[in-house]
Amino acid sequence: MSLPTAIHSYLQSEDDVLDLFKSVPVSSDKLERKFPEWIQLRKLSIELVRSGHAQVLGRSLRHEKSMPLIGFRFGSTDPAAPTLGLFGGVHGLERIGSQVVLSLMSSFSELLLWDHLLQDALKKIRIVFFPIVNPWGIYAKTRANPRGVDLMRNAPVEALENPTWMVSGQRFSPRLPWYRGQEGQLEAESQALIDFVKAQSFGSSRVVHLDFHSGFGTSDQIWFPYAKSTKPFPNLPEFHALKEAFERTHPHHFYKIEPQAKNYTTHGDLWDHLFDEYNAQKRRGVFLPLAVEMGSWMWVKKNPMQLFSTLGPYNPIVPHRHKRILRRHNTLFDFMIRALVSSDMWVPKFEEQRQKHLTQALELWYDKKDQP
Ligand SMILES: [Zn+2]
Repeated sequence: MSLPTAIHSYLQSEDDVLDLFKSVPVSSDKLERKFPEWIQLRKLSIELVRSGHAQVLGRSLRHEKSMPLIGFRFGSTDPAAPTLGLFGGVHGLERIGSQVVLSLMSSFSELLLWDHLLQDALKKIRIVFFPIVNPWGIYAKTRANPRGVDLMRNAPVEALENPTWMVSGQRFSPRLPWYRGQEGQLEAESQALIDFVKAQSFGSSRVVHLDFHSGFGTSDQIWFPYAKSTKPFPNLPEFHALKEAFERTHPHHFYKIEPQAKNYTTHGDLWDHLFDEYNAQKRRGVFLPLAVEMGSWMWVKKNPMQLFSTLGPYNPIVPHRHKRILRRHNTLFDFMIRALVSSDMWVPKFEEQRQKHLTQALELWYDKKDQP
């Protein structure tokens, strides 16, 4: 058995990549000025098209102009192989998310050329990237896609308790923030992300996905499901085991690790939807979709003037800080590769171990009223 073939077209050669990028209806001048991430994506696509699979997952439309949505896959084609995924740029204003994923991809692309450790790892696991989920959003400096839809509110999922008025998602108007889109209608970008994850990860026994965002809080946070509910999610014991392995390995890490709903609950979270769909397959796997929420308030605190620019509240503006943020998540990426290659060492094997992790996780993160 092999992975499902193309959802849309595969890019086979450097010429395919060049043709694809030429088809984008924006001049290179403008792209360089307004969307340097796109130029970097083109460069990486050329470098990586031979060593992996690059694929057009769909198209994002703005005033009838279209931009391709591009995903990458490296390593094992065994559907059951553990899968690590990196995602960025779901919210266009949070362009630092795409920049971090592109920066990690760029190191990855160099390591692929000479690092036997990584080459061996890729015989056992698969690594996928979807670095720019909402290209027009980044180009036009909007959180939503060109149709005004907040992609992280667009999935067919309802918050089960405590939705915050407006912020959790609204259906009043695309002119207001957090618009969910029309009921029952997935946006092209959401559909591309869902199709990609289903094709690459749904056969997989162990999945960790990191989706990079910014704009909330004073520290870097790792949020785990659910967004829709303050109740524990079914893979809580496995997530706690992963967190324990991470903290033992990197005791001085700087992430605050919490359930997303501890901050706020939302409707329409794409990762909640994918988590539930993965589990509806009734096979015992581990699916951990994590949001890395970069704490932009600490950048603003150090440079308050940036509050007055459109991108300022969401992105590091001062050059040295920007550089630091781009390399800040290297350790996390490296750890996750190792964790997936050796997942048999931390995923609880026996019910007793699961229960122990569950008890510790409930104590750490959940109020008595939310515990099962
Ligand atoms: Zn975001």
